[in-house]
Amino acid sequence: MSNKVLVFSEVRDGELRNVSIEAIAAGKMQADGAEVVGVLVGESVAHLSGSLINYGADRVVVVNHPDLKNYTTDGYQQAYMQVIESENPNFIIMGHTAMGKDLSPRIAMKLKAGLISDAIGIERDGSDVIFTRPIYSGKAFEKKRVRDGIVFATIRPNNIAPLEKDVTREGEVVHFNVVIQDIRTVIQNVIRKATGGVDLSEAKIIVSGGRGVKDSEGFKPLQELADVLGGAVGASRGACDAGYCDYALQIGQTGKVVTPDLYFAIGISGAIQHMAGMSNSKVIVAINKDPEAPIFKAADYGIVGDLFEIVPILTEELKNALNVKAVV
Ligand code: FAD
Repeated sequence: MSNKVLVFSEVRDGELRNVSIEAIAAGKMQADGAEVVGVLVGESVAHLSGSLINYGADRVVVVNHPDLKNYTTDGYQQAYMQVIESENPNFIIMGHTAMGKDLSPRIAMKLKAGLISDAIGIERDGSDVIFTRPIYSGKAFEKKRVRDGIVFATIRPNNIAPLEKDVTREGEVVHFNVVIQDIRTVIQNVIRKATGGVDLSEAKIIVSGGRGVKDSEGFKPLQELADVLGGAVGASRGACDAGYCDYALQIGQTGKVVTPDLYFAIGISGAIQHMAGMSNSKVIVAINKDPEAPIFKAADYGIVGDLFEIVPILTEELKNALNVKAVV
């Protein structure tokens, strides 16, 4: 087996997802002299190779195939398996995204590889690589290592800092032909829900609302705050269940798991199931009229008061401080 790290890169709407750049950094962290190879799969993805190299890939394998335009489990599994057979890596890494969650166990099973999912940290201990991953809904962390065979890991978005972009870096780009057959699912059309532009799972700043916002109109001041900060809007399940917003915004145990730099919990009580999705945020700001609300135990900053008074003042102050002229 070669000393090689394969990084499965994810492309959405013709753009590399941030987590793929973070995965290259994760690959480099444990590489110990190994070659870090980015793998791009899609219909027309070669133009993204340069970015992977700028962010640290030593080489990029490009798989262009008309049947791989949209993600399908069958198609991408076949493509990746053929790349793995050809490259013979000892380490594979990808984002813990919807695609990563779908694909990684299938490929790990085929390779009989140990799979470490949802890692938030990677370090070396001699020849071993040690992963940190949250357990018990983020209440504790465990350290895991794989001692035999191929190591396969998925990393949680927004946890591993990407390497600095270096446009002078050079690397080889290899085009790899694959044979794709028997795709059992046909994607005829992809219809996206409008979520205000910033991808919630990769947002650096999230402004979340709960049942305290009272109705869908109550989300408007939160959207304005998010716009001023260049962030995304999220929600508790309480708000989604009440019909104030779409379930695509739900954060928590049965929603999205996010790790932004800054998380606003506004009119959210802080139920354990909500905390499971956001407790690893770097800075948490809670706004709640109940001083006993559990969210304050997790918050770095807390404001006790009525969100309908506080949020507009905060937005205005931030607009002035950040010199934001107009938010469209
Ligand atoms: P509430 O608990 O009703 O809290 C509303 C808060 O708003 C209160 O603290 C109140 O003081 C405050 N408030 C009210 N008015 C104002 C105001 N004007 N200004 C300021 N503050 C105000 N929940 C999730 O979020 N995500 C999940 O993924 C999830 N998964 C679940 C899975 C299971 C199996 C189960 C059983 C539950 C799950 N839940 C989940 C639900 C969870 O238990 C809570 O019911 C939910 O998080 C509560 O939402 P909330 O905080 O918005 O509402």
